[in-house]
Amino acid sequence: MTTLLALDKVSKQYNREDLALKDISFTVKAGAFVSIIGPSGAGKSTLLRCINRMVEPSEGSIQFRGREITRLKRKDLREARTGIGMVFQHYNLVERLSVIENVLHGRLGYKNMLAGALGRYTEAEKRRAQEILHTLGLGEHLFKRCDQLSGGQKQRVGIARALVQEPGLLLCDEPIASLDPGSSKIIMDHLRSITSTMGISVLVNLHQVDAAINYSDIIIGVNRGRVVFNGPPKELTKERIHHIYGAEAGDLMLDTPDRRKGEAALAL
Ligand code: ADP
Repeated sequence: MTTLLALDKVSKQYNREDLALKDISFTVKAGAFVSIIGPSGAGKSTLLRCINRMVEPSEGSIQFRGREITRLKRKDLREARTGIGMVFQHYNLVERLSVIENVLHGRLGYKNMLAGALGRYTEAEKRRAQEILHTLGLGEHLFKRCDQLSGGQKQRVGIARALVQEPGLLLCDEPIASLDPGSSKIIMDHLRSITSTMGISVLVNLHQVDAAINYSDIIIGVNRGRVVFNGPPKELTKERIHHIYGAEAGDLMLDTPDRRKGEAALAL
C-alpha cells in the first residue's frame, strides 16, 4: 500500500502557553483505517484540523498525495482540500435543507461561487449523490429535511456529503460521540467498509477505545500533544492504554460490565 498522508514533526502552539501538538510524526497508507485515541485535551481535534488546515500548524511538514499541504496558498489549498473530506461530531448540516441538498454541498469545492450559490449541479453529481445515499441506507430519505432525521441518520448524511467530494482521505472528528451504541455500530461499519470498498483512508478521533480496537488497522495514542503509541490493535496492551490515558485511564472502566456491553455493541 502506498503512503497517502505523512506528517513529520508537526507542532501547534495556539498561544504562549503549552504546545497543543509537539513533534507529531506518522504516516497513513491508502485505504487504511487509523484511529487516534487519547484523553480530553490531548490534541486529537487540533491534530485532525491541522491536516486540512482548518487550524494552521505552527511547524512541521504535512504531505498529502506527495504535496506539501503546509505551504499551499488559497487556490491550491482549496483544490487539495477537495481530496480530504471531513465528518464532524455534530454533523454540521443545514438542518432546514433536504438530505440530497446537504449532500450536494460536498461538491461546492469544485465550483465557482456563482454556480455554487445558484445550486447548479450536474446530472452526474446528482446521480452520484443518490448512489452514495443508497449505499449508506438513506435511499428512502433523499427529500426529507435533515431536522427530521435521527442522529445516526444525520451522521450518515455527513459521511455522504464528504464522499461526494471523491476524497482520498476522510477525517472524522469524534463521529460517534453523540450517538447511542446501535447507531455508533452502523456508522463505524460504514466507515470501515468505505476503506475496503472505496479504497479511501479513514483517520478518526475516537473517545471509545473499544471501537478503536475493533475497527482499526492502526491506532495512534496521543497524550499531551505527543504520539505515545502507534501500532496495530493487538499491540495495545492494558499497560499501553494506561500510558496513553494517564490519570484518566481509571475513568475508562476497563473490564467493567459496561465496557463489555459496549464491546458487544461495537464488535464487528
Ligand atoms: P482533544 O481533541 O484531544 O480533546 P484539543 O485538540 O481540542 O484536544 O485541544 C488540545 C489543547 O489545545 C487543549 O489544551 C486545548 O485547550 C487547546 N486548544 C484547542 N483549541 C484551541 C483554540 N482555538 N485556542 C487556544 N487553545 C486551544
